[in-house]
Amino acid sequence: MPKNITILLVAVSFLISCKFDKQKENSKNTQKAESSVLSKIYSENLVQKDSLTNDFVQINFKESGFVEKMVYATQDNFTKEKIYPCAECFLRKEVAEALQKAKEKAEKQNLKIVIFDCYRPISLQKKMFDIVKNPDYVADPKKISKHNRGAAVDVSLANFEGKLLNMGTDFDDFSEAAHYANTAFKSEERKNRKILRDLMVESGFVPYDKEWWHFNFKNTDFPASDFVWKCK
Ligand SMILES: [Zn+2]
Repeated sequence: MPKNITILLVAVSFLISCKFDKQKENSKNTQKAESSVLSKIYSENLVQKDSLTNDFVQINFKESGFVEKMVYATQDNFTKEKIYPCAECFLRKEVAEALQKAKEKAEKQNLKIVIFDCYRPISLQKKMFDIVKNPDYVADPKKISKHNRGAAVDVSLANFEGKLLNMGTDFDDFSEAAHYANTAFKSEERKNRKILRDLMVESGFVPYDKEWWHFNFKNTDFPASDFVWKCK
């Protein structure tokens, strides 16, 4: 191969490799720019999350004495999908204090409060709705639920060993059997529903006749929220 052609080839390959390096550099810069945008969004979210979580109280399941049955953090719920990243219960401070009162009342009767659901982020309610697409089962996310405001709880009762009391239906049974006043049940189930309703009402909650487990706090005038908690 003539010498000048060899020099030319070397020069061309040098130019090509420079071009590649340049492309690499450019893509690195783009990635850098993207990641700085992402970290900006992330840190803004964190600020937002922190200021939002200041209004919320988190139930400590390990020490509080509540029984954790947060079924939306598992696949064992009516959507058959895991909706929540992990089992955490957030409530507005006043709501959590009222639930604490209900817990103390339950304990006087040797019972524990079982928690199925608390604050529900709007985007996760939308996820539920997209799976089921039935407004009889999940509130249309366009209409804000009291759960989105951190002002509603889904609860039941258990004995001191943690065994759930018989309420006639499971949680999230959307049939008429779940209506509080359904008379098709034996006295035991009706008595259990009444114990739960009485102690919740005495503690500041308003019952919902179509779901024996659902209780709104007496004041639901909180903004709806969409912060999603972090999991350890
Ligand atoms: Zn509910």
